Amino acid sequence: METLLLGASESDLAAAAELIRNGSVVGIPTETVYGLGADACCESAVQSVFDAKGRPADNPLIVHISDFSQAEKYACHIPPLAYTLAEHFCPGPLTMVLPKSEKVPYITSGGLDTVGIRVPSHPAMHRIIELSGTAIAAPSANRSGYPSPTCAQHVLRDMNGRIAAVVDGGESELGVESTVISFDSEMSVRILRPGCVTPEQLSSIKVVTGDGAKRITECVNEFTPDCERCVDPFHVVQWAMEALDEVRREVWRDAYAEFTRLSKEHSRKKGRPKADDPKIAILNAAKAKAEEIK
Ligand code: AMP
Ligand code: MG
Repeated sequence: METLLLGASESDLAAAAELIRNGSVVGIPTETVYGLGADACCESAVQSVFDAKGRPADNPLIVHISDFSQAEKYACHIPPLAYTLAEHFCPGPLTMVLPKSEKVPYITSGGLDTVGIRVPSHPAMHRIIELSGTAIAAPSANRSGYPSPTCAQHVLRDMNGRIAAVVDGGESELGVESTVISFDSEMSVRILRPGCVTPEQLSSIKVVTGDGAKRITECVNEFTPDCERCVDPFHVVQWAMEALDEVRREVWRDAYAEFTRLSKEHSRKKGRPKADDPKIAILNAAKAKAEEIK
C-alpha cells in the first residue's frame, strides 16, 4: 500500500474523510499529537488501527467528535459535570471517560463498557470529523513503543506503507497527549492519565448546583500506567542512536527533544534516576551528541 501525503486544503480534507468513511486508516493532525484515525464505529477499520500500531487489543482508543453535543450518540450517560467541563475545555486536550453506547464497538473501547471522548481543536481534524459524518477513533500515530509524532513526516517514518494516507496539518501545537478523566461522583473527577489539562485547571472549575456555585470538590490523580506511557524513556535514546547511525540529523534532534520530554514525565512519575545510574551516562552522551550537531 502506498501512503498518500495530503495537505490541509478543503479537497484534501474531503479526500481524507472519504478514506475514513470507506474504512481506511489516515494519519491526522491534532493539537496534542498526530493520530491514526479510523471510523470509531467500524470494527474492521478499528482493527486496522490496532494492526498498524501493533497496539495491544485491551488498550482503548479515544473517540473524537467535532462538538460535545455528539457525545450523546456515543455515551449512554453523561453527568452534568461533564457538560460543565465541556464548556471550559472543549474543544481541547481533555478526554472524558463515559459509559459507552451500543454505537461504539468493544474493539474501540478495548473491551471496556466505557469510552474516552474528546473534541479536538485542530481545524483540520475538526473538519475531517465533520466531513466524515462519524466519530473518529485515533490513538497516537506511532508504532507502539515509539514516541508520539508531532508532524506528518514523523507519521510517515513510522507508518509509510501501513496506512492509506497522512494529512499534513503542520506541527502539533501542544506535543503532549490529552488529560484523561473519569467521573467519581457529581462533584469529583479522577485523572486516569496526566496530560495537557492540569489538576489545578480542573479543580478551579465552578459548578452551579441547586444550592449555589461550588468548585470541583476532589480531583484525584490516578496515574494508571498505560502500555505506551510505561515505555522507559531511555528506550528513546536507543532509538535516537539508531537514527544517528543513519546520519539523519533532523531525526536525531527530534528524537532528543522527545527524549527530554519523556525524561521529564518519567521523573515526575518515578523520581529522578540516581546519578550513578548507567542510563545517566547514556543521557549525557546523547546530550553531548545533540550539542555537537546542533
Ligand atoms: P492514546 O494512546 O493517546 O490513544 O490514549 C489512549 C489512552 O487513554 C488509553 O491508553 C487509556 O490510558 C486512556 N483511555 C482511553 N479510553 C479509556 C477508557 N474507556 N477507560 C479508561 N482509560 C481510557
Ligand atoms: Mg499514544
